[in-house]
Amino acid sequence: MAAYTYETHEYDVVVVGAGGAGLRATLGMAEQGLRTACISKVFPTRSHTVAAQGGIAASLGNMGPDSWQWHMYDTVKGSDWLGDTDAMEYLAREAPKAVYELEHYGVPFSRTEEGKIYQRPFGGHTTEYGEGPPVQRTCAAADRTGHAILHTLYGQSLKQQAEFYIEYFALDLIMSEDGVCTGVLAWKLDDGTFHVFSAKMVVLATGGYGRAYFSATSAHTCTGDGGGMVARAGLPLQDMEFVQFHPTGIYGSGCLITEGARGEGGYLTNAAGERFMERYAPTYKDLASRDVVSRCMTIEIREGRGVGPNKDHIYLHLNHLPPETLHERLPGISESARIFAGVDLTKEPIPVLPTVHYNMGGIPTNYWGEVLNPTADNPDRVQPGLMAVGEAGCASVHGANRLGSNSLIDLVVFGRAAAIRAGQIVQAGTPNAAPNLHSIAKAFDRFDALRYANGGTTTADLRLEMQRAMQADAAVFRTDKTLAEGVEKMTAVAAKVADLKVSDRSLVWNSDLMETLELTNLMPNALATIVAAEARKESRGAHAHEDYPERDDVNWRKHSLAWVEGNTVSLDYRPVHLDPLTTVEEGGIDLKKIAPKARVY
Ligand SMILES: Cc1cc2nc3c(=O)[nH]c(=O)nc-3n(C[C@H](O)[C@H](O)[C@H](O)COP(=O)(O)OP(=O)(O)OC[C@H]3O[C@@H](n4cnc5c(N)ncnc54)[C@H](O)[C@@H]3O)c2cc1C
Repeated sequence: MAAYTYETHEYDVVVVGAGGAGLRATLGMAEQGLRTACISKVFPTRSHTVAAQGGIAASLGNMGPDSWQWHMYDTVKGSDWLGDTDAMEYLAREAPKAVYELEHYGVPFSRTEEGKIYQRPFGGHTTEYGEGPPVQRTCAAADRTGHAILHTLYGQSLKQQAEFYIEYFALDLIMSEDGVCTGVLAWKLDDGTFHVFSAKMVVLATGGYGRAYFSATSAHTCTGDGGGMVARAGLPLQDMEFVQFHPTGIYGSGCLITEGARGEGGYLTNAAGERFMERYAPTYKDLASRDVVSRCMTIEIREGRGVGPNKDHIYLHLNHLPPETLHERLPGISESARIFAGVDLTKEPIPVLPTVHYNMGGIPTNYWGEVLNPTADNPDRVQPGLMAVGEAGCASVHGANRLGSNSLIDLVVFGRAAAIRAGQIVQAGTPNAAPNLHSIAKAFDRFDALRYANGGTTTADLRLEMQRAMQADAAVFRTDKTLAEGVEKMTAVAAKVADLKVSDRSLVWNSDLMETLELTNLMPNALATIVAAEARKESRGAHAHEDYPERDDVNWRKHSLAWVEGNTVSLDYRPVHLDPLTTVEEGGIDLKKIAPKARVY
């Protein structure tokens, strides 16, 4: 066994990740009187949530009639009928409460004339169960909503005496002999020491894995570390084939222009200057849901109507809007357009392209954030000692496609739910079980093997190979041929992990080793994505399969589960939850309203 020493810290709860989900869970856990630690590989307010621009969905009805039932309907339809009904109901019902809590914690929302929280329209958000006009449901702090939420939650968590371990990199889960999660092993990046965090509940809030792709809107830190840890612990990942492409990444850099830009009146054009979305989605046009708009843009480009010298992108126009609106409502993207596209958006259109943006799949959980370790006879079996929230988790409220502004609300609703649940099941202050030394040794062995890895492939080269394969073969449109090629390429890429070369062997600020660890976390996420996509013979939400263009509810309305070991993936499936939490008599939604039908906008 590799010889490393470590310090042990004992808590009731350890949250891994300090984005919106991790901070909301941390704050809630501390409020419940649980001794709570939050560990993060970056400073909390640098988590990717800081980049969220457009806003957070909740049916406050500040700008016209709205109801949680309409929000739920839109979420069900947005998910292309793959989301879990109980979780989607919980999300839509609790959303207003969760947003008012944020307001009271101090989030500086933009305001209406009467001083209420300002709400803007976003794609796929409608009234009257999709029969009425678009609704203004997305609560915003200009175009810096994530930034405002993160700073507020960090301050509130400190006030509640939560303890932060910043620039600590979580390596692996510590599992007891009988399979209970009892903590996590972490590496302190600035001094090279190791730390065992022992806890009665570990909460993974590690964000998405956008960086498995070549072009993504997500931060370089979005490397699916939670999914990697879970896969190594022998637990499955769910619905990984569903990867969202955002219609408006800036051409070249991938930097995001929020959907709020179209919410404020922006529109897309092709080489002929045509507002082509009117042809594909006559009712909601540029505000159809993201998978739909991304596919339409891809079709325009494929059929030769792209803009630019290579006819390989699309224009987003905001230059017809009053400069005051742009200044007041969209100051951040004015800056992004200038820096990343060299465009003054008051005068010219912005060149854009569908870009990887969000992972609908992740670590399976129930709507309390408890991780599931399904078996054939119990698809909802709870994994003791482990929760997952935010983009790392899959509750599943986004199903096959997430609606814009439904992620930020997912972070706070389920971060809060996890805290409420932990308050019920964790005995505050009681001693923790001794950590399993065998499990710790296994984590150190893996770390040591990568630290001294001396093969022929650099981390940067292998990462690029993975990103190219994923970009080409797990794309907006997929076919049997591209997916089979993708599986073959990714299986070969994952095998090359054994041939990695790390040149820096030190333990202090060793970014070479950290990026290698991140690559070994991206890898199981990427593999699960391509293998689950190859297996799914239908089109649903973000999974657009050209050989099977229709949704097939009879055979495929089910969640996929992927267990990844090395470079092999085994798949299984679990049923979608169809039952709501409350009946119509109890004030719940009429199930007839959310019965599956064709998804048109
Ligand atoms: C550019 C952009 C704009 C967006 N805009 C919106 C929007 O307007 N509305 C909306 O609803 N959604 C939006 N989204 C989506 C949404 O912002 C994200 O899904 C969400 O912020 C993810 O939050 P999170 O808390 O799950 O993870 P993150 O914010 O990504 O945080 C992950 C945390 O985990 C920590 N971590 C990860 N691995 C480790 C490890 N190994 N050890 C220790 N710590 C670790 C990190 O340090 C970080 O603190 C946007 C996304 C992007 C990329």
